[in-house]
Amino acid sequence: MGRRTLRVGIVGAGLGGLAAAIAIARAGANVTVLEAATELGEIGAGIQMLPNVSRFLIRWGVDKIISDELVEHHECCTWAGPEPTLVARSDPKLLAKQAGFPWWMVRRDHLHAGLTKSAKEHGAKIILGARVVKMEEVGDTVKIQSHGGQSYGFDMVIGADGINSFVRGQLFPEAMPIATSKVAAYRGVLSCKQILAEIPEARTFLRGTMDVSSGPRGYIVMYPISGGKELNIVTAFCKDDYVTKPEDADIEEFRGYYQDYSPVVQKILKLVNYTQRWPLLQLPPMKSWSNEKHNIVLMGDAAHCMQNHMAQGAATAIEDGAFLGRVISEVVRGTLSVSQCVELYEQRRMPKAYLKQQISFMSGLMNLAEESIEQRNAASQPEIRALQENSLQPAPPSPTYRSWQYYSSAESAPNIFYYDAEGDADSAVWEYLMSQGTPSKANFLTDTLKKYWLGFLHDNGVVAGGANGVCVVPGMEEVDHEKFGNGL
Ligand SMILES: Cc1cc2nc3c(=O)[nH]c(=O)nc-3n(C[C@H](O)[C@H](O)[C@H](O)COP(=O)(O)OP(=O)(O)OC[C@H]3O[C@@H](n4cnc5c(N)ncnc54)[C@H](O)[C@@H]3O)c2cc1C
Repeated sequence: MGRRTLRVGIVGAGLGGLAAAIAIARAGANVTVLEAATELGEIGAGIQMLPNVSRFLIRWGVDKIISDELVEHHECCTWAGPEPTLVARSDPKLLAKQAGFPWWMVRRDHLHAGLTKSAKEHGAKIILGARVVKMEEVGDTVKIQSHGGQSYGFDMVIGADGINSFVRGQLFPEAMPIATSKVAAYRGVLSCKQILAEIPEARTFLRGTMDVSSGPRGYIVMYPISGGKELNIVTAFCKDDYVTKPEDADIEEFRGYYQDYSPVVQKILKLVNYTQRWPLLQLPPMKSWSNEKHNIVLMGDAAHCMQNHMAQGAATAIEDGAFLGRVISEVVRGTLSVSQCVELYEQRRMPKAYLKQQISFMSGLMNLAEESIEQRNAASQPEIRALQENSLQPAPPSPTYRSWQYYSSAESAPNIFYYDAEGDADSAVWEYLMSQGTPSKANFLTDTLKKYWLGFLHDNGVVAGGANGVCVVPGMEEVDHEKFGNGL
């Protein structure tokens, strides 16, 4: 197979769809994003970008576009009880150092704007007011129609259209997200200036930290966003009924959920004048994310929506995009077919997403702490004791220690924080090629992999005029295998 032109259609310009647009445009494919909304945007609430995805914001240059808005905190504290006692604590800068990438907090609309700008700069075309209403397979291509009647043809379609995905409905009508618990989420954003003016004692929460007030029956997370100008508040509470769709919450009822929490936190919540109740739906693990031909595939919330307690929903969507970008680059280079690339994506990403759904649910149980709050708090005493002994340089916990506060602990979930979706995609491609090849008896090098690596000499990806044009090094059109080895 030689280098080919690939037309990829992405349905949905949410955080996941935009990340995929950037990664796939970087792969050398022609990318068109079809978005139902007539204006691009996101809600103003905060979102955390942990090292498993901040790495992509850096790789793609998004961090430069929104650098003034990104916040790095210097402590992550979990408190319990009305007279708040510290029950868990982690050092985000240490986590960032170990993972190699920062742990950022940002407003969702700022992040969305940064991804949009980057996607456009990478050459992706974003079409607004294009709600996809029809999709059909025509030979090896996919034809899509928007509600305005416009038609589009693609070699590959990615359904990044969120929790109520149209694309998923077409492929798997029986797959429905469900409420797996009675927990719902609430959000608010306050100006730090206003908080300080009205509640001077709230200063303790406005020192560049992330503070979690945890349990019983709910939790409250507060962290700075917008370059430190605003405080994001995201809370959870376990009601008596299941919540299945967003709805306006009665503000007094909302504040009442936390009446046994610290008085300062309650005062801050009093400044939140309006909030909605957000359902936390989960998709049951699916057998497949794609059609039989493997040229229509799901990603993000459309494929694996999860509870939010690990701050990994959008992160997992961004990882999907990064992974797809890398395997699609091999389709463009002529190493893989579209269906092979989608199969590798499903093999690697489906189990990963299911694991994240499970740990997200468990992180919720830990933080809601409905029954076992004393046992939970006792389990994290090593972190607290080390801090009491030396608050500046607490001794690192024993290497065998695991914190129950999984979402801020690299020791508890290294496969989340240290994971590199692009690297994983590369491994998937290499392992696939290796499985197709014959190893040399002399040096154990597989012929398929050797050919693949030598191919970088013939096609180094440098565009020489025109979309998908490639600089072919003169005289290297056919790489001489003999010259580079022992005649594999
Ligand atoms: C309270 C709360 C806090 C959270 N905090 C975090 C966090 O800190 N970190 C984190 O990583 N995740 C977090 N999440 C999860 C995160 O919000 C989602 O997982 C993420 O936004 C999903 O992105 P997506 O692109 O897959 O879907 P969406 O954001 O839903 O985007 C889908 C897009 O598709 C468009 N669309 C839909 N149908 C069509 C159609 N037929 N045609 C064309 N376009 C269509 C929509 O208009 C939309 O723009 C949180 C979630 C909640 C509820």
